[in-house]
Amino acid sequence: MGFPETLQPIDNETVKRIKADHRFMDLAIAEAYLLLQRRQDLSQGDNISCPFHRDESPSGSIHQDTIMKGQGCWLFTCHGCKWNNSTPQRPKGSGDAIAVLRVASAHIGQPLSFQEACQQLLESFKQRHGNLPAVAQSIQAPPATPDPTELAKATNEMAAAQKLLMDSQELLNQLWTTRAIRQTTADRFGVGYTREETGDNYWCFPILDEANQLMVVKLHAHGDATRKSWWYPIECESW
Ligand SMILES: [Zn+2]
Repeated sequence: MGFPETLQPIDNETVKRIKADHRFMDLAIAEAYLLLQRRQDLSQGDNISCPFHRDESPSGSIHQDTIMKGQGCWLFTCHGCKWNNSTPQRPKGSGDAIAVLRVASAHIGQPLSFQEACQQLLESFKQRHGNLPAVAQSIQAPPATPDPTELAKATNEMAAAQKLLMDSQELLNQLWTTRAIRQTTADRFGVGYTREETGDNYWCFPILDEANQLMVVKLHAHGDATRKSWWYPIECESW
């Protein structure tokens, strides 16, 4: 089974660019408004009305993925309906332009595959903005080579932090009081430790589905500076 002639496989670089260019998200949201016949003239500050539910007080927002910031994955989030627990790629409230279009098309009974959604976004982009410019290979930065000393240090820190956490009732209690994470959760899912390039540290929880497939990683800032947590959709990791 191959792709029909009109549907060429989308290469990873193009997928990455669809996710990283705000204009594709704008197109996906506009298409979702049309497909789902929602009003799109409501906005308050940075919030926009959600195409997926009757949204009188705009509860949707477009933002750059916290974790993938350097690579620029744009996400749409609705704090109201969580996209009605829609299925394609299980966005559960947050997803990229491709997910937005796929969920909207699925809601009206005409589900688009990942490839079809990409094709449709590229076609809309072409109509609106012209061809997607070719990637200038020569100006791409060479992949960063991790400093082995830094890498070893970070790995040791992570391992030490994990051991410390699992061995320390006091630390687990602190996680419970500041992050609402129970020991049973830590026991069930395991608990990790991660570090962003910026040097910020996070407690890191893999969340699995019934079939033990990794769905999402939940990150909690380490320390008491902020109580924010982030859900990091695995879909973005497949770049
Ligand atoms: Zn919504």
